[in-house]
Amino acid sequence: MKYCERCNLKVRGNRYRCPLCQGLLKGEDSENPFPFVLGTYQKNSLFFRILLLCTITVGIVSVAVNFLLPKSGKWSLFVIAGIGCFWLNLVLVMYKRRNIFKIFVWELFLISALCVLWDFATGWNRWSLDYAVPILCMAVMATLTVTARVFGAAPGSFLIYLCLVLLLNIAMFVSLLMGLVMVALPTVLSACMNLVLLTALLIFHGREMLAELHRRLHM
Ligand SMILES: [Zn+2]
Repeated sequence: MKYCERCNLKVRGNRYRCPLCQGLLKGEDSENPFPFVLGTYQKNSLFFRILLLCTITVGIVSVAVNFLLPKSGKWSLFVIAGIGCFWLNLVLVMYKRRNIFKIFVWELFLISALCVLWDFATGWNRWSLDYAVPILCMAVMATLTVTARVFGAAPGSFLIYLCLVLLLNIAMFVSLLMGLVMVALPTVLSACMNLVLLTALLIFHGREMLAELHRRLHM
């Protein structure tokens, strides 16, 4: 049994510091009174490893295709940045879970606006609208989906943030129709991903979503 001299407290288990005063404990380790609980990562380690393999594959394929099509611009750099953003967000989720969806969507709008401003200030080559914003949208949608899946977030809150991303996708699609976006593929892919996710949510969680709407609108 371990003990704290300062608090005159006996502590079971293999703790290093006193739970009251945070001072160093003395004595021998004893059997841990608490059951061992797996963390989020350990519980989903296969899922995370498959995810890591998938994202790395997407990165490698993008660079390879870009290498074969050099005239299409350096778009694979944006794909790599998008994957980086996705993993950075997931790591963020591991440490801070509250209101994390809100942070992602704020981040999406803020970085998108900064990209457009930066692009505008450096000669308006349209890389922001062609690649950066749609790829960022996809990265954030992927993070939202994985977070909701792993942490079992309420489908209602997931829906709201997915709809906010949809607003940006609609704006991008209108820009495409107006001829502001030169490369259609990323914008179209992002819009499709958004619609598929919304449809999946309605098919699998339609009932919960209706309940959430009733609650929010006090119907
Ligand atoms: Zn103590």
